[in-house]
Amino acid sequence: MNPSVSHSVDGDGVGWIVFDDPAVRANVFNPPTQVALHAALDTLAAAPVRAVVVVSAKERIFIAGADLKWLLAMPSVDAAAECARSGQRLFQRLADFKVPVVCAINGACAGGGYELALACHWRVAGDAAATVIGLPETGIGAIPGWGGGVRLPRLIGAKAAVEHILKGALVPAAEAQRTGMVDELVPVAELKVRAKAAALRLAADRVSARSEPPRADAAFFGELRTATARKTRGREPAPLRAIDAVEQGLALPLAAALELEACLFGEIVAGEVCKNLIHVFFLKEAVKRLTVDAWFPAGAGAAPAPFKKVGVVGAGVMGSGIAQWCAARGHEVVMRDMKPEFVERGLAVIRGVFDEAVARKRMKPEDAAEGLARVRTTTAWDGFGDCDLVVEAIVENVAAKQALFAELSAVVRPDCVLASNTSALPIEELAATAMEPGRTIGIHFFNPVSRMPLIEMVLSPHTTRATAERALAFAKALGKTPVICKSSPGFLVTRVLFFYLNEACRLWEQGAPAEALDAAMRDWGWPMGPMRLIDEVGVDVSDFIYGEMAHYFPRRFEGATVCARMLAAGLKGRKNGASSGFYTYAGHKEAPNPEMTKFAPATSMTLDAAAIADRLMGVMIDEAKRCLAEGVLKSSDDVDFALLMGAGFPAFRGGLMRYAKSIGRE
Ligand code: NAD
Repeated sequence: MNPSVSHSVDGDGVGWIVFDDPAVRANVFNPPTQVALHAALDTLAAAPVRAVVVVSAKERIFIAGADLKWLLAMPSVDAAAECARSGQRLFQRLADFKVPVVCAINGACAGGGYELALACHWRVAGDAAATVIGLPETGIGAIPGWGGGVRLPRLIGAKAAVEHILKGALVPAAEAQRTGMVDELVPVAELKVRAKAAALRLAADRVSARSEPPRADAAFFGELRTATARKTRGREPAPLRAIDAVEQGLALPLAAALELEACLFGEIVAGEVCKNLIHVFFLKEAVKRLTVDAWFPAGAGAAPAPFKKVGVVGAGVMGSGIAQWCAARGHEVVMRDMKPEFVERGLAVIRGVFDEAVARKRMKPEDAAEGLARVRTTTAWDGFGDCDLVVEAIVENVAAKQALFAELSAVVRPDCVLASNTSALPIEELAATAMEPGRTIGIHFFNPVSRMPLIEMVLSPHTTRATAERALAFAKALGKTPVICKSSPGFLVTRVLFFYLNEACRLWEQGAPAEALDAAMRDWGWPMGPMRLIDEVGVDVSDFIYGEMAHYFPRRFEGATVCARMLAAGLKGRKNGASSGFYTYAGHKEAPNPEMTKFAPATSMTLDAAAIADRLMGVMIDEAKRCLAEGVLKSSDDVDFALLMGAGFPAFRGGLMRYAKSIGRE
């Protein structure tokens, strides 16, 4: 017997099916689990049982869904459709079972786990916080394939079902009970007893018939399809196919609807986008297990001492963002700038971020008030003497940062870690003046800190293992997703992004219109095109980083001059006015900035969208390959992850290096 599914019959004639794969943290469905469930059903079908209850023995997981490695390896449309049919057949056995089957849900009940629950005759959920339920398949580019897209609409109505499926997220047990996704919500300690009572009640035929769920009209589906197509820009097929499965499936008898679902599942799961999004899912999971082991000889294994109090130097865009995020996550923070008005401006920004979090219901007002109260400010050094970590976010200037590191070394405790938030400068250069170079590191947050998940953790040749371990634990505890890089100019994200932006400017200087460049790259999948991105980042910042790249990569970086010329004319991008960039921004719509004709070349250049994307993505790929060859990052997966989390790389493409491989340019 496969140990992942066991079964027994108790003294009251209730059969129990227990999911508990001892080899893994989470129960998942794969071919051996399917065989094991079939076997359990065979035995119980032949036994004199009055009812059956399905449970998980794991505390935090009911069943997490299908094994994604299995889906990722699906070789063809037919194989994927057959995978759907195999799950459907298995769960149909539950639906057709000779006695009532009740599902007792405790912990995450996702995808195939919830599809099993849907095939049961009654669903009881425990009220533990870990109990989250639903069909999240569209989040990884798939659709429900084991009956979820067919049974959920028949249970809670088409509109609620399809909206749930399109969200691609699990819902807490209480919400699942409110919407009818589960029938009962019970105290978790009573889950098994209450599920058994429900099973015996059903066996005695004392459960009222379900009412017919509400129907949705054709207009609803039409509008939903239009809105979904607009949102996915034709790039992600799963959401539209999920709508098809629900709408068309409802018009068919159950068996035909299941077959339609299997065919759609096959097409989607064998497709490239689904495989790419599963790859992205795995990248995100891998971060949880990230250690510094690949970068250092083996360590002592002691838990790193956590940073408690954090000092932030510079109360500008980044300093205030970092201070806010650290305070929100429970750190005492002291933030310094040179003048009281700069400190006040930073504090106002921090207050604004907390207020917004409250307004968006991401934070309780009392938590925001406590977070804000954890931030102290100064124009001197008071409060820095007992910091565990100081992050500098002052102007991007080597001499200024060197002077600061020297000053800081005299102020902080000897065991304090000194970090730079520089976007591009080598850490060892900035920290050359620090008393203890081993305790220096780059902790590169992205703008805006409250929304961007990536941190590039940058190791100088001097950074010690202990410093790196402490910084990594800090980044994870902040809820950010770190990638570890070797110190080198621009690390990964700034370097590849600005080589790409520079190439776009070079094409513009050769006569390619900004709108054509932007449309091509948006169409490729980026959230915005390169010229618009320069307007957002700032023409001044872009020009500065072009200068840095030209300085550090003199033989390869041929800097465009348009940003320098714009800057000389006072155009800094969107930050200093509605008509200060490649575009004007009256209202929400951007339009070409007529002022840019002053800088435009005499000739025009016509490149189709594919040629533009090919050229710009080619530059990005080449630079990322160089970073890998130079050991800036350890793997292609690191490159993929960093650009997905730090630069808005389109997830449906799976990552830069994965894309490069798909076109033979790895
Ligand atoms: P900013 O100009 O908004 O803020 C810098 C602040 O530092 C100013 O308030 C300035 O008064 C203060 N300052 C300068 N010297 C100081 C000193 N010696 N002591 C105390 N305060 C001092 O700059 P920013 O955009 O927040 O960037 C800060 C750092 O973060 C830079 O290294 C930058 O490259 C990096 N960075 C910026 C971004 C971004 O998008 N803005 C993103 C990632 C990293």
